[in-house]
Amino acid sequence: MNIARFPRIHFAHLPTPLERLDRLSKELGGPEIWIKRDDCTGLSTGGNKTRKLEFLMAEAQAQGADMVITQGATQSNHARQTAAIAAKMGFACHILLEDRTGSKDANYNENGNVFLDFLHGATVERRPGGVDMHAEMEAVAATLRAQGRKVYTIPGGGSNPTGALGYVNCAFELLSQANDRSLAIDHIVHATGSAGTQAGLVAGLKAMNANIPLLGIGVRAPKQKQEESVYKLACATAEKLGCAGVVQRADVVANTDYVGKGYGIPAASTIEAIRMFAELEGILLDPVYSGKGAAGLIDLIRKGHFKKGERIVFIHTGGSTALFGYLPAFDAMAHAADQATA
Ligand SMILES: *Cc1c(COP(=O)(O)O)cnc(C)c1O
Repeated sequence: MNIARFPRIHFAHLPTPLERLDRLSKELGGPEIWIKRDDCTGLSTGGNKTRKLEFLMAEAQAQGADMVITQGATQSNHARQTAAIAAKMGFACHILLEDRTGSKDANYNENGNVFLDFLHGATVERRPGGVDMHAEMEAVAATLRAQGRKVYTIPGGGSNPTGALGYVNCAFELLSQANDRSLAIDHIVHATGSAGTQAGLVAGLKAMNANIPLLGIGVRAPKQKQEESVYKLACATAEKLGCAGVVQRADVVANTDYVGKGYGIPAASTIEAIRMFAELEGILLDPVYSGKGAAGLIDLIRKGHFKKGERIVFIHTGGSTALFGYLPAFDAMAHAADQATA
């Protein structure tokens, strides 16, 4: 395995910090919790898509593209990071946003990531929830190609074997940081959605024979479906790396108990996790991904699944920009705080 063989444009702020969360660890009274700050990758408020885009945008450039198209839900962090790197590279960027939650709230539809998409100069089209977004994107790309545009399409979440290389690289980076400080990691936990993050991490950890269990906390699909899509992409990524066969089906584990009512709809546990990280550690999570991932982490510690003496690394995949699209979800909480101080 040799990542330097793959075209890559270096724009992420790497390595991202690996920090211990003393107050959260104490509050929960269980394992030692560490955080890998992939919310600090540097591109337009950061996040996990930046690592994937280092490889995807290199491929776009190698193919002579002058425009990228991608798609996601209204508050897509992936769309925002794609718009930002397209701006930096002088590419046009076109985004298709799916109304996956049905929210009519103005902040959800115009603020947060949507505001930043526009600020980075991207053009945006909307689609109703439930349509085949990949097919919609390919149709728009075909029209633009017929008009002479040199278009590179990026799948939702940047999740294909090229994008997943970014998280193979993160697995290396994390292991090397842990080795430098003799931190023997017992578990890695993070939010999993379009599968590229977990697939890249699994492929990288297995290729290094790291022997560290990885748990993806689901934000949308049921367990079986989520694990299947991660497994398929992890196998394809391992093959791309030149180590086909290193990933076994049992290496891919997702827990989808913290989705709540659905994708993009924060549960009470999501809000609690966001509040705990904000109040105990000064760290901002998000209502769609990292808040649900952290809710899983917190609950599994409370239930004794992760034990005292173990060292857990939570990979913070970013997304705090979406907080500004979710103000009503925090209303009840703000109200309760007002009453407490009255
Ligand atoms: C996209 C995203 C994830 C999930 O990563 P996938 O590679 O799509 O599984 C997690 N957290 C945040 C903040 C994201 O934007």
